[in-house]
Amino acid sequence: MPKLPMRNQRVPAKDRRRAPPPPKKAEPFYGSAEWQEVRERLKAQRGERCETCGNRGRVILHHIVERKDGGAPFAPSNLIFQCDPCHGKVTAANRSLRADGKEPKHGPQESPPSAPAPRSIRLG
Ligand SMILES: [Zn+2]
Repeated sequence: MPKLPMRNQRVPAKDRRRAPPPPKKAEPFYGSAEWQEVRERLKAQRGERCETCGNRGRVILHHIVERKDGGAPFAPSNLIFQCDPCHGKVTAANRSLRADGKEPKHGPQESPPSAPAPRSIRLG
């Protein structure tokens, strides 16, 4: 088999315009031993993957009810692992709700346990 001429073999360079955002100012909370411990424990229990979309990789342990809204900082029921895109969606949605003076949404776990409305079933 003849060797193909090596033309246009250059792999397109990675788009560097989408540089990662600068690291957020580290809050002392996230450096606390208690937080690290809870995060490691939940990681071991749940696995290191996004609990919203199942994405594996880098995950963020997100407070469903944010601490500034009175969410429990270390309660596993208030913590969810999320990948960057899912976390970004939630925080962006909450930010715009806040801007509108509305309550931020809290994940699906926060929905009230309302029973579905009884439906009349027509028989026959
Ligand atoms: Zn995700």
